[in-house]
Amino acid sequence: MGAPDALTATLSPTAEVGHFIAGRAVASLSGRRQPVYNPATGEVARHVALGGADEVDAAVVAAHASFQGWADTPPIRRARVLFKFLELMNQHRDALAALITAEHGKVFTDAQGEVSRGIDIIEFACGIPQLLKGDYTEQVSTGIDNWTLRQPLGVVAGITPFNFPVMVPCWMFPIAIAAGNCFVLKPSERDPSPSIFMAELLKQAGLPDGVFNVVQGDKLAVDTLLTNPEVKAISFVGSTPIAQYIYETGAHHGKRVQALGGAKNHMVVMPDADLEQAVDALIGAGYGSAGERCMAISVAVAVGDVADKLVPALAARAKALKVKNGMEPDAEMGPVVTKQALERIEGYIGLGVEEGATLVVDGRGLKVPGHEGGFFTGGTLFDHVAPEMRIYREEIFGPVLVVVRVPDFSAAVKLVNDHEYGNGVACFTSDGNVAREFARRIQVGMVGINVPIPVPMAWHGFGGWKKSLFGDMNAYGEEGVRFYTRQKSVMQRWPASIGKGAEFVMPTAK
Ligand code: NAD
Repeated sequence: MGAPDALTATLSPTAEVGHFIAGRAVASLSGRRQPVYNPATGEVARHVALGGADEVDAAVVAAHASFQGWADTPPIRRARVLFKFLELMNQHRDALAALITAEHGKVFTDAQGEVSRGIDIIEFACGIPQLLKGDYTEQVSTGIDNWTLRQPLGVVAGITPFNFPVMVPCWMFPIAIAAGNCFVLKPSERDPSPSIFMAELLKQAGLPDGVFNVVQGDKLAVDTLLTNPEVKAISFVGSTPIAQYIYETGAHHGKRVQALGGAKNHMVVMPDADLEQAVDALIGAGYGSAGERCMAISVAVAVGDVADKLVPALAARAKALKVKNGMEPDAEMGPVVTKQALERIEGYIGLGVEEGATLVVDGRGLKVPGHEGGFFTGGTLFDHVAPEMRIYREEIFGPVLVVVRVPDFSAAVKLVNDHEYGNGVACFTSDGNVAREFARRIQVGMVGINVPIPVPMAWHGFGGWKKSLFGDMNAYGEEGVRFYTRQKSVMQRWPASIGKGAEFVMPTAK
């Protein structure tokens, strides 16, 4: 089977990436659009339609119309569609990865990894018949049985960030549709094409029209979804101010909301850590994907005298990073996503200098030969960063690693726990008791012990604490199944036990 038509269309330089509603590609209705860049060259690669009320309403109507039929489809038959989708995703894995690199900029092998982590969730969602099994109690009172089941919510929506245009939508829609919901995805306007590719694959897999829809757009499309009464739940992943806004507005309009926000992830390096492993981990987790991961490590917490060995080793490696077009086979770091992102990141580096931090490696102004217009910045390293500095407190979301020196383990734990974000954290040590205490005491949702990026597997669920997650339930895993379903309890007895007259006391077991 060849690549879907949508791929060929989206790769054309004149193409406009549109919507996918009721099983077909839909061009812009409003006429609003914005450029999509190739970050490696800085050139406009194509445009994306920006949907408004007309497009969102059409998608929600299509989803609503398909809901009852899809919810009534036996879970095992829904799972079979997902198995077919899984096969197609595996078949087109590299085409999707190339599309990610073309619009996001991350290196191709990293994009392949992103697609793989998305595929993990589809595999999990294929187990939906087992996941939806309810609980049953026989004889809760004489002749009465009670059971609980979980039913889908209806039309649910996902709003996703630019940094994982395949993986983060896959945190949401495979589980939502497996559970019997119909889905409207509003992808990031910076890298919109992979969502249309996946919509085409779902259609090829046999998903009924209207069960999965894509509306491209910006705040206007999001606000329309947030207020549409037919949308029963919103999953959001993005920056903290928008996550908080989505959570509050969605809740105000009576929706179930999970809104995952930004991060400032620390890696604590104890004096007994294997230094080589710690340096490898910090370089990969700090500069991989140009620091544009919500689980990127942006703060190295150097305990005791370890900084004196750690900082020179990091500096040598940061300077040697191979920063180039992400499609080059030996690229270690690609460009950042947009010119605005580049200016923000390099602005923070200037701010760090003004705040008095020691700039050990300065990545600003990097030019990649042959790609002079690309949105490139090199790896940057700061030492002697203090907790009150903005480069410590705020999410930079770029390849900027800061080192904070602390005297001991307790000070490291306090530093992490005092930060307003609590997405991921890591501790590198060779002491099992230190590791155990760290995992127990740390106020962060996802913890790595000698693992720098502890993104939980598909069946464990993903979620930070504090300002990194608004709402009660994590993304994917069994929490994802709970988020996209609601519990119903049924209590039943049959004629032999009725006809004894009205009962006015609270029913109790007899
Ligand atoms: P963003 O918050 O700018 O955008 C996310 C989504 O919200 C996009 O679809 C965008 O169109 C929409 N949006 C943007 N501004 C809006 C507004 N004013 N009103 C309504 N909708 C709006 O985030 P981004 O720059 O695309 O992604 C990077 C951010 O996402 C970082 O902060 C990163 O930490 C975070 N992130 C978090 C996780 C996590 O799991 N916690 C995962 C990935 C990314």
